[in-house]
Amino acid sequence: MKDFTYAAPTTTDEAAAALAASGARALAGGTDLIVQMREGRRAVGHVVDLKRVPELTAIAVAADGSLRFGAAASVAALAAHATVAAKFPAMIEAGRMIGSWQIQSRASLGGNICNASPSADAVPALMALGATAELTGKGGRRSLALDALILGPGKTALVPGEILAAIRVPAPDARSAAKYVRFTPRREMDIAVVGAGAWLRLAEDGSVAEARIALAAVGPTPLRATAAEKRLMGEKPTAALLAEAGRLAAADARPISDTRGSADYRRALVKVLAARALAGCCAQLGQRIEVP
Ligand SMILES: Cc1cc2nc3c(=O)[nH]c(=O)nc-3n(C[C@H](O)[C@H](O)[C@H](O)COP(=O)(O)OP(=O)(O)OC[C@H]3O[C@@H](n4cnc5c(N)ncnc54)[C@H](O)[C@@H]3O)c2cc1C
Repeated sequence: MKDFTYAAPTTTDEAAAALAASGARALAGGTDLIVQMREGRRAVGHVVDLKRVPELTAIAVAADGSLRFGAAASVAALAAHATVAAKFPAMIEAGRMIGSWQIQSRASLGGNICNASPSADAVPALMALGATAELTGKGGRRSLALDALILGPGKTALVPGEILAAIRVPAPDARSAAKYVRFTPRREMDIAVVGAGAWLRLAEDGSVAEARIALAAVGPTPLRATAAEKRLMGEKPTAALLAEAGRLAAADARPISDTRGSADYRRALVKVLAARALAGCCAQLGQRIEVP
């Protein structure tokens, strides 16, 4: 690993200012960054440790039920927060798929987002939940949807001297539910060949009032399956509807073929996993729907 300097600021503004230096990079859990630095995949001259900034590890559920957590809060800390675990189970389930317990004790969801890997597990779950990113830099604070923040593999809309400070997740509704599922050849310690996150909000009559589906590992960034989402609107969930949404999500996907799976295989997985994620939402809302 090449030599680097290290700073451990204690405020968000200091951390952002330190990241304005050329060659500077934020370190949250380091479970992506340190590996990349060791393998020479990322040249970093100055490491800015975010874990000593209280705002960046804080977790708070507001009176309206919405969640705001610091970008450097670990998956383990989020999972140990009783309200977060109870009210945002899909986010925690996705976080719990990241590596092992040891990895989760360090890894943050902010790091999962900013690493900008197409196969990041927490990102589709957060996108399905309607999460937004709160960025801080010289120009002040700004909010971005996750699909506007992640631009391509390893590439984000963050500018030098700007950090992801926090992630906001809207309050769950009594008639809403979310689910994230993925396919990996091994059960643990593997990267998603495909992941699918879904979020549904039902109207009083049981029809779909709002739907979001987000997919991992089938495009240069995690992406929304918008044709599938539109098809669900106003309809009452049935096995046939969820299967059709799965087919449309597969058409929305833009997979490539690589060592982990061909594009055709990935599309076939999207069809199944999107329908399963939707069925998972329906099950939480009291409706059991069998899908393949
Ligand atoms: C053995 C192993 C297994 C893994 N398994 C999985 C898996 O199953 N699923 C999965 O999705 N990932 C997996 N990962 C990848 C990794 O653990 C996750 O992406 C994790 O969430 C990264 O978080 P981190 O806090 O460690 O990020 P770091 O490594 O600290 O940072 C990642 C990147 O984001 C930047 N960054 C971090 N925080 C900020 C911020 N607040 N503002 C601006 N930039 C920031 C860093 O500069 C760096 O470029 C695995 C990694 C390992 C080593």
